[in-house]
Amino acid sequence: MKVLVLNCGSSSLKYQLINMENEEVLAKGIAERIGIEDGFVKHEAIGKEKLIIEEDMGTHKAAIRIVLNSLVDPQYGALKSMDEISAVGHRVVHGGEKFASSVVITDAVKKALEECSELAPLHNPPNLMGITACEEILPNVPMVGVFDTAFHQTMPKSSYLYALPYELYEKHKIRRYGFHGTSHKYVAQRAAALLNKPLEELKIVTCHLGNGASVAAVDGGNSIDTSMGFTPLEGLVMGTRCGDIDPAITTFIMDKERIGTHELNNIMNKKSGVLGISGVSNDFRDLEGAVAEGHERAALALEVYHKRVKKYIGAYAAEMGGLDAVVFTAGLGENSADTRKSICEGLEFLGIKIDDNKNNVRGKETIVTTDDSSVKVLLIPTNEELMIARDTLELVK
Ligand code: ADP
Repeated sequence: MKVLVLNCGSSSLKYQLINMENEEVLAKGIAERIGIEDGFVKHEAIGKEKLIIEEDMGTHKAAIRIVLNSLVDPQYGALKSMDEISAVGHRVVHGGEKFASSVVITDAVKKALEECSELAPLHNPPNLMGITACEEILPNVPMVGVFDTAFHQTMPKSSYLYALPYELYEKHKIRRYGFHGTSHKYVAQRAAALLNKPLEELKIVTCHLGNGASVAAVDGGNSIDTSMGFTPLEGLVMGTRCGDIDPAITTFIMDKERIGTHELNNIMNKKSGVLGISGVSNDFRDLEGAVAEGHERAALALEVYHKRVKKYIGAYAAEMGGLDAVVFTAGLGENSADTRKSICEGLEFLGIKIDDNKNNVRGKETIVTTDDSSVKVLLIPTNEELMIARDTLELVK
């Protein structure tokens, strides 16, 4: 069975075609700049030359068409015909309280997803566009939705309830949901395998540090708390998102700057985070470059970023009543040794001792602490696509 995994963002679409017999990635790529000019698709099938197609894509449907054509291309493709695609697995950001696990997409599911869209306005609409486009192009292929929120549905009420009037939870389902669940779950499982211990016996803090970033407390394999909340805006400082702030700041800014909710949301989601503090960039490579050139606010942005992650690690160790491992994953967590080191600095009292040589590595599964470090720190490249493909296979079998 071959499963196509799609991750549709607002202007991009990442895909992987996975052979589920051996979990080998047969082809993968990304369509970028969907809906804007200068669109392109980067495509690569194993054992074949890379392909770059420069073509404007007005919609996600246009992008999916190009992707599918690339997959069956005799020279660059990985399939003889589209009939070989047994199922499509979609990453869906927000499943609300309805979806505690992955689900086969039906009309009822699509309707429920639309209802969740107001909870994740940046993410769910493009996810849904991908689903609709696939339905139109591959009408007979079953599809599965895999939710970023599902893994965190094991959180106890004391973790997910905000201290607001209880009726607001009942009426509007205002609560912590958490995101990046597929990634947190995957890296926690891999950490247990690498440490050669049962997941059920481990207390792990998983740090997913990409463009969006979140931390989860994984106790015995279950998420018991996580830093993202009602939306993916809460918690850590991110590339362009502010993370935790005093909630009273929101109305204060609205009064002082004479702006409405739309502009306020824009500021908190797109103009804040390390971009907002530094004024330089939301990309950590640019920030590290600026710091090397003596840019003070870039350095400050990184300091604030690192401190926030450290705070959550401490909080979650306290919440779990212990700590066996900390895992770093996603773009920054996998690639930046300096980030891992800065975050772990000062956590020696918890039993964390980073080994600078071992930590000088990127993008591969490894332990980066000294042999006598009682808490292990691991680098584990995330693989959300494989998790999505596994769930998809399981549900359509
Ligand atoms: P997402 O999937 O959320 O878009 P990624 O997991 O791809 O994000 O992470 C993107 C982030 O990772 C970017 O902010 C980028 O700066 C950072 N990143 C990627 N490679 C490196 C690197 N070599 N050094 C520092 N940061 C990096």
